[in-house]
Amino acid sequence: MPQLRLSAHALTKNFTLHAQGGLCIDAMPPLSFELHAGQCQVLLGPSGAGKSTLLKLLHGNYRLEGGSLTLHADSGSLDLATLPAHAWPRLRRDCIGYVSQFLRVVPRVSALEVVMEPLLERGVDPAEAHARAIAMLRRLNLPERLWSLAPGTFSGGEQQRVNIARGFIAELPILLLDEPTASLDAANREVVIELIEAAKASGAALLGIFHDEAVRERVADGYILLESRT
Ligand code: ADP
Ligand code: MG
Repeated sequence: MPQLRLSAHALTKNFTLHAQGGLCIDAMPPLSFELHAGQCQVLLGPSGAGKSTLLKLLHGNYRLEGGSLTLHADSGSLDLATLPAHAWPRLRRDCIGYVSQFLRVVPRVSALEVVMEPLLERGVDPAEAHARAIAMLRRLNLPERLWSLAPGTFSGGEQQRVNIARGFIAELPILLLDEPTASLDAANREVVIELIEAAKASGAALLGIFHDEAVRERVADGYILLESRT
């Protein structure tokens, strides 16, 4: 895995609410931090502080409005603040993984296919992708009878485990986690902690939001604080 570092300086993001006369709200305070290879930074702040917004910004789902965001590798640096939109899909495929808070369910696409997809997109042999997806679903204790079904009817915790499997399977050098353990039982929470520890050991740089203080204390190498927006 290539060792990457992500540095952010004075990032800002506002939302303009056109339906309300162009009312502009700050979604998060100006924020500076660094993510280092082999470490997990934990994002702390009250509900509505902008934690999920920050992860979406770092995943290129929102355009940056202010500040700088740079990805550093041994071979050079990439300015993400000015990266054209068409370059983001490849960056997401090869460098920046994201476990969203809720799984985006596509009708008729099975859990197994959802989990295999990031590997197939990266050109991994289908038989290998299939085997790795099964191993990942097994590890997360997703019952085998669910593997061939579309996750739309799964419970919250089952959907979340499919999402986690999809996020971790490609072993990308940057990984963003939005409350991955929120609806899991203790045994599966432990699996997620182990996946995070393994990702760190292989050199990934992680940024996560975790409801559970016990999980935070296990995985955190540092904290990034987001103040409440009042
Ligand atoms: P957190 O994850 O810390 O609970 P969010 O990042 O989800 O907070 O939201 C931060 C603020 O930005 C909230 O006030 C939220 O209502 C607002 N917000 C988030 N997404 C949007 C959006 N797409 N359009 C308008 N406002 C948004
Ligand atoms: Mg959130």
